[in-house]
Amino acid sequence: MTAAASADRRAELAWALEQVRARIGRACDASHRPAGSVTLVAVTKARPASDVAALAALGVRDVGENRVDQARAKHAAVGDAVTWHFLGRIQSRQTGAIARVADVVHSVDRPVIATRLGRAAVEAGRRLLVFVQLSFDADPERGGAAASDLPALADHVAMTPGLELAGVMAVPVLGADPWATYRELAGVAGRLQEQHPGARFVSAGMSDDLEAAVAAGATHLRVGAALLGVRRPPGDKVRPGRRADEPA
Ligand SMILES: *Cc1c(COP(=O)(O)O)cnc(C)c1O
Repeated sequence: MTAAASADRRAELAWALEQVRARIGRACDASHRPAGSVTLVAVTKARPASDVAALAALGVRDVGENRVDQARAKHAAVGDAVTWHFLGRIQSRQTGAIARVADVVHSVDRPVIATRLGRAAVEAGRRLLVFVQLSFDADPERGGAAASDLPALADHVAMTPGLELAGVMAVPVLGADPWATYRELAGVAGRLQEQHPGARFVSAGMSDDLEAAVAAGATHLRVGAALLGVRRPPGDKVRPGRRADEPA
């Protein structure tokens, strides 16, 4: 069990969720896309499990984590009320833990990770939906495979038992124009789908650039700050070192 978020926090999250959903709705309208064609993944990162539970109560069905310890702790607290997405860098030794808690993995960028995730998924009697991550600049911090390596990586994922190829994911280079970035990603996604017709998903778009991602055809938006970065109202009493909504 997890401590419930405070009423103030629940109100903040409800408000932020309304704003984000309205932005997605306007972006879908502008591109003549049905609202249901986009999945909102709430990226909860350092926020407590009580925030995840509060978002689930507000109707959020998809939650993303970029660290294995956070994913395990929140999965243990919240369980299968939501679909769990993993979107951080993956080390080989973490594949077992990820395969046990994640339903969707956005950040597979090399064959060895796919092989190990698949093996762990089969052992756990699970099947993971997997995005291959494209890198625009080969920055190891962000992860991702070079565009030239992506087709072979996608073939490998598609052949690996326990894994299902979802499509392609990318994080834009800091300072790059997201509209150009996501158009380029859409081109890569289109070529991937020619080889793998089932790989129809595109994971792109974050708090600051989701409009550009929707316009370019993104199916999964990974939104953190715009949903969860809302500060509590002034005057709310907190003990030092502990957030108001954090479990005691
Ligand atoms: C943190 C994170 C996000 C969310 O970014 P925001 O700007 O907070 O919306 C999306 N994708 C990845 C891979 C992340 O690490």
